[in-house]
Amino acid sequence: ATNLPPSAIRLPLDMFQPERQNSHGVDLSDENTLKALGLTLSIPAVFGVQTGEAITNPANRQDTVGFIQATSVDDVKNVIRKAQDGFEVWKNTPIAERAACLEKAASHLEYDMPRLMGLIMREAGKTLANAVSEIREAVDFLRYYAAQIRREFADGKALPLGPVVCISPWNFPLAIFLGQVSASLAAGNSVLAKPAEETPLIAGEAIQCLHKAGVPEAVVQLVLGGGDIGAALVADPRVTGVLFTGSTEVAKLIEKRLSQRLNPNSSPVPLIAETGGQNALVVDSSALSEQVVADVLSSAFDSAGQRCSALRVLCLQDDSADRVLTMLKGAMEELRTGDPSLPETDVGPVISAEAQAGILRHIEEMRARGFRIHQALLEFECGNGTFVAPTLIEIDSLAVLQREVFGPVLHVVRYQRDDLPQVMKSIHDTGYALTFGVHSRIDRTIEDLKAASDAGNIYINRNLVGAVVGVQPFGGRGLSGTGPKAGGPLYLRRLLAQRPEIKSF
Ligand code: NAD
Repeated sequence: ATNLPPSAIRLPLDMFQPERQNSHGVDLSDENTLKALGLTLSIPAVFGVQTGEAITNPANRQDTVGFIQATSVDDVKNVIRKAQDGFEVWKNTPIAERAACLEKAASHLEYDMPRLMGLIMREAGKTLANAVSEIREAVDFLRYYAAQIRREFADGKALPLGPVVCISPWNFPLAIFLGQVSASLAAGNSVLAKPAEETPLIAGEAIQCLHKAGVPEAVVQLVLGGGDIGAALVADPRVTGVLFTGSTEVAKLIEKRLSQRLNPNSSPVPLIAETGGQNALVVDSSALSEQVVADVLSSAFDSAGQRCSALRVLCLQDDSADRVLTMLKGAMEELRTGDPSLPETDVGPVISAEAQAGILRHIEEMRARGFRIHQALLEFECGNGTFVAPTLIEIDSLAVLQREVFGPVLHVVRYQRDDLPQVMKSIHDTGYALTFGVHSRIDRTIEDLKAASDAGNIYINRNLVGAVVGVQPFGGRGLSGTGPKAGGPLYLRRLLAQRPEIKSF
């Protein structure tokens, strides 16, 4: 995979920390490992305080995972005051000590992996394999930013911003949440961390883990609640930076709110926004159909399509489209949708009844417009949860898609061999530029399409999901985000008031 178009800034290779290792995986094909995990996962724990708002399992709404007490809008002022005090402490904490806290938190997460996996599966509906990757990515973020601050900023000259707000989505409730928080802390900022309202419990565990690792309570605070709380945090003039990952619509609201704070004496507040995508994969008739099918299945339906990087539009060259579609529909029949904690499950639930209703509404609108639809089957046990069967919709042009559909829905468009420039234009015209893929065995086609794409992350002859911290930084352009890429060498620099020069090479 490649991340940067030829015109983009080239960074020295040693900024990518070649000596650092990412966290190790768990062998889910090993029965003993599964048994060990199963023992812990079957404990019917209820997390959080025992009163307040109940958080339920998206795979089984009768399973109460825990309870939370949301922060009130009135309390927002107090938590920001405390964050200002926290900032005075943290900015004067030696860099080696800050880094050591983050590294300690990473080790706590690894140690606590089975219990946290159980919580991630129950609160966010993640499959076993996805729960493992979620924790590994969080661990990698903590160690990556800790290593970067030690390597590049040890002289202590770089100045942090102040109290920053981190607003995260539910689809990576630990990895994205801790990615934002760990970068902010590494840079020396104090943090007000507001997770998505759907996944507050795992966020609570992450914050406790940071506190246990030595980060003072005033330096990183959990702020629970929905959009009103996020908006109140962003609007406060004492907040000096905003890290947001979520929908493009909310990113625009935040940008507007920040601009309303501007007056002749204030400087612009840095905003990192990582948002949605209308991600496409172009497959020509030279591509290996078996590989295409395997990669399309994982790109479109893994995590029930609830990844910002997920494949939304498959563009098939007409000559081979029937063959690929027949194989793809057959393979979709083999996908098992159901209880995410079972090792044989491929596709778990979608996050909420509201999300489910929105996705089903889209499918019905497409049906009403006369587009052909193929759906996999749901298992009988899906009754108590919010599931959507993996769905394939054959559309006649990308222009019929007005927005990102965040679920297990794959759209397919056919193109004629000579239409590739038109295909690339229609992808470009969506305004999104997050992930893009090509399946072809013709080098010239690969090079031409790479050059024509403005997506942040481009994938050649492989699936579109699974960026790796420090190895393949992740982020988009246009409607898909502001950059800099998460898990890359430039991210942390945006969180410093005085950005040091990149050394020449
Ligand atoms: P969302 O935009 O609805 O919510 C994200 C966060 O913003 C939540 O914490 C929410 O409470 C908060 N929020 C809502 N309104 C707000 C407001 N007015 N002011 C401040 N905060 C507000 O997104 P979601 O449904 O949680 O997540 C799914 C979206 O996230 C998809 O569009 C997906 O593509 C995107 N996403 C992008 C990336 C990426 O790296 N580019 C990664 C994951 C998810």
